[in-house]
Amino acid sequence: MEDRTINLDLTFKAALIANWQWLELECEPCGVTVRFELQPLRARTRHNVVSDFVARAHCRFCGEPPARAFLVRRYEDADPLQFLKFRVEEWTHDGQHIEAIKAACYSVTAGWAAYHAIVKDLPGRYVTYRIGSYLMATTRPEPPPTPPNNVIPMPKKDRSGANQPASSHRHRSRLAPF
Ligand SMILES: [Zn+2]
Repeated sequence: MEDRTINLDLTFKAALIANWQWLELECEPCGVTVRFELQPLRARTRHNVVSDFVARAHCRFCGEPPARAFLVRRYEDADPLQFLKFRVEEWTHDGQHIEAIKAACYSVTAGWAAYHAIVKDLPGRYVTYRIGSYLMATTRPEPPPTPPNNVIPMPKKDRSGANQPASSHRHRSRLAPF
């Protein structure tokens, strides 16, 4: 969860002590929001007070002053589902982030039932059934089998053009990102 304030009349030091982590500036003409980490920003600016920095800030693209400015901090909620260990989760298409917890169950069988129902509801989506870091089931296809040791994989070119060895380890860690 995130917490934000528009009260910027405090020093960077006081803001950091109050656990504010970022300064967020919005440029209305560009429709862009920029988030600065407070700690490095404090080191790099000559201003002591956050509002003084904001008053002199302007957009790198259009030169306008920020339309809105906030201090932002993130706080950890105690997980309200902490005793429901069997989780069915929907992931983003790239498999990097959990988009939604679809079910949290107390028992493994309830989790399985939920997993099958949810997979049916979400055709084509990346859904996992996990307990902790242990993957029970996934809608992602299995990684291809590891080639025998005497087979040297063809170097694959990624978009940046750098050579990436087709390592099965790399592949697997991408498929199970937890
Ligand atoms: Zn702008």
